[in-house]
Amino acid sequence: MTPTVAVNPRMLMLARDSRRMTQKGLAEASNTSQSSVSRAEAGLDRPSRSTVDAWAAVLRYEPALFEQADSTVLPRTPLFRKRAALKKADTDATAALLRIRCRQVDAMARAVEIPEESVPKVNLDKEGWTPSQAAQWVRAKWRLPPGPVENMARLVEDHGIVVARLGGVGDAFMGVSIVEAGHHPIMLVSSDAPGCRDRWTLAHELGHIVLHHRDNDVLEDCEPEADEFASEFLMPAHEIRHQFGPRLGLAALAQLKRHWRTSMQALLMRARQVRRISDAQEDRLWRLISARGYRRQEPVDIGVDQVEIIDEMVRVHLEELGFSVADLAKALWLREEEFRQVFLRGRAPDPSGTDDASVDPGPKPRLRLVE
Ligand SMILES: [Zn+2]
Repeated sequence: MTPTVAVNPRMLMLARDSRRMTQKGLAEASNTSQSSVSRAEAGLDRPSRSTVDAWAAVLRYEPALFEQADSTVLPRTPLFRKRAALKKADTDATAALLRIRCRQVDAMARAVEIPEESVPKVNLDKEGWTPSQAAQWVRAKWRLPPGPVENMARLVEDHGIVVARLGGVGDAFMGVSIVEAGHHPIMLVSSDAPGCRDRWTLAHELGHIVLHHRDNDVLEDCEPEADEFASEFLMPAHEIRHQFGPRLGLAALAQLKRHWRTSMQALLMRARQVRRISDAQEDRLWRLISARGYRRQEPVDIGVDQVEIIDEMVRVHLEELGFSVADLAKALWLREEEFRQVFLRGRAPDPSGTDDASVDPGPKPRLRLVE
């Protein structure tokens, strides 16, 4: 008898979605029948080992990925922050990558101690609060000093949320967060965004985690609430109000951007929210921003806030637990090439193959190895 494989239908689907392939496309590329793909995804058949290997080769994953359990990880509501409408295929692909990324983080998280998730939650209706008041409350609870948040990514990581950056997900994708019992909460953000937009997305996603944890949250209300939260969290009204002078212009917005590390456009909206600008003045500035192409690309480059947890998990495996790059790639069901692209960006190629003295040890790790 041919050996068969207990494929988890959902994992096969996620793997296929993450590569933007249809059942038909996968079948053709792997020289298998479409019915074998669709029957496996419906949980009707156990496909043969050779069929599964052929799918894995086309999808560029280790076959073991298809056998992983699908315990939870599905977010109740995937909260996508969009710049424009996302195509369904893009949303599916990104959601699938996110779920695979969650499993990879879980697989590595056994070896290091990640801070417990400690994001305070609030029910706005019950408290009678605005999202801005919730943002002030979180800033106070976390004892943030006045002024701009120093490193938005590290701040959320210090409260137990793993930040993963994902490249090549297109312009429309901004971020999504996933908080599920038994898993480390993850914020997945685009790695292609400039620093100020990245900070905004992280603050917006934090807003979702603080505010939106009930089953009856209405998605349409969630987006403006998360934006209001982000705005107050990054630019507290009582501090910024008096920094908008009477003749606010582009130069002043650029100056404020350097200080607050939020975009000129976010600052202009903030000036209106705190009523420091007339309608005519605001219209004039929006026209100038458009005319100069700042909607696509603004002046004043803000560096991207550095993240740490995933890098540290990878480092511990490679440097302390005796994994080679190939071992770790395989443990995360990836081809080595993709593993390097996703997890080793900006790192020395392979610590085992390099002279110790040439490797910059970087900042002292904050995570403790679990013994
Ligand atoms: Zn959102």
